[in-house]
Amino acid sequence: MDENEDKIGTQGKPIKSNIIDNESAKMSTGHGVIQGYNGIAAVDDKNQVVVWAEVFGDSNESSHLPEILEGVEKNCREAEVSDAIYEEVVITADSGFHNEKNMKQIDADGITAFIADNKFRKRDVRFKDAGRYKKKVVNWKPKKGKNYFTADDFVFNELTGKLICPAGFPMWMKCKNFQAGKYKGISYMGHIKNCKNCTLRSKCIRKKNTKARQVAKLDLTKLEGKESFTAKMIRRFDTSEGRSIYSKRMGTVEPVFGHLRGTLHLDRFTLRSKKKVNNQWLLYCIVHNIVKIQRYGTL
Ligand code: SF4
Repeated sequence: MDENEDKIGTQGKPIKSNIIDNESAKMSTGHGVIQGYNGIAAVDDKNQVVVWAEVFGDSNESSHLPEILEGVEKNCREAEVSDAIYEEVVITADSGFHNEKNMKQIDADGITAFIADNKFRKRDVRFKDAGRYKKKVVNWKPKKGKNYFTADDFVFNELTGKLICPAGFPMWMKCKNFQAGKYKGISYMGHIKNCKNCTLRSKCIRKKNTKARQVAKLDLTKLEGKESFTAKMIRRFDTSEGRSIYSKRMGTVEPVFGHLRGTLHLDRFTLRSKKKVNNQWLLYCIVHNIVKIQRYGTL
């Protein structure tokens, strides 16, 4: 019998469950998809002590930022480190935590944080040549299904002030105040005479009966006309202070995971159910912390 069954969730959507450990989830890893838990830890940058840790049967860690922030604050208060830890420290986190909801909460809580977005390297001139020496991936297969031109393939010509489609034709402005969800922008249309016989039509227009391509250029930095919280974070992140603070993150938290995995041999969780797996994760983190206390406790 297949261990994974489709069930109907509370909102009528099918959810994946596992009959052996229903609290675990499918995780996409470098070694393929595995059934398991996501171990999250918050670490201090002075001695790399784990200040908070928990496992989640959920591959999407971004939704757990509020629990992490609350957990860190509570642990620091109970350990009498600080009653208001976020007034004394700066938080860094990787791009997995960068979304509008999280950035809004950080802003509302007045926390000083530098959280990378998934394009932060592209904006950094130091990464201009990144990938040049990367090994070619063997066994790479193209994605299944058709790839259509996205809004990024339509570029704005500064000289003519027109949006140019991938076939090189100018488009006409259809709506100056186009709105898609909470984002605003401008929508453009291709000319029917150009789209009709275009050689790129099959890559541009999905439906046979559609006469011309429409594309919207949204201003993703603004939500309902105001600067979004993600845009605000990007602005703060793209300062020399932000980049410098964030650059230390890798040397702070990654060695902790390296130690847990390489030295303490936590290659995989050996138990089932969130409670037991969480205890195993915490036990390893405690052992990691004991080593830190033994080495640096008197400093
Ligand atoms: S289908 Fe129309 S919009 Fe698309 S590339 Fe061709 S001419 Fe341009």
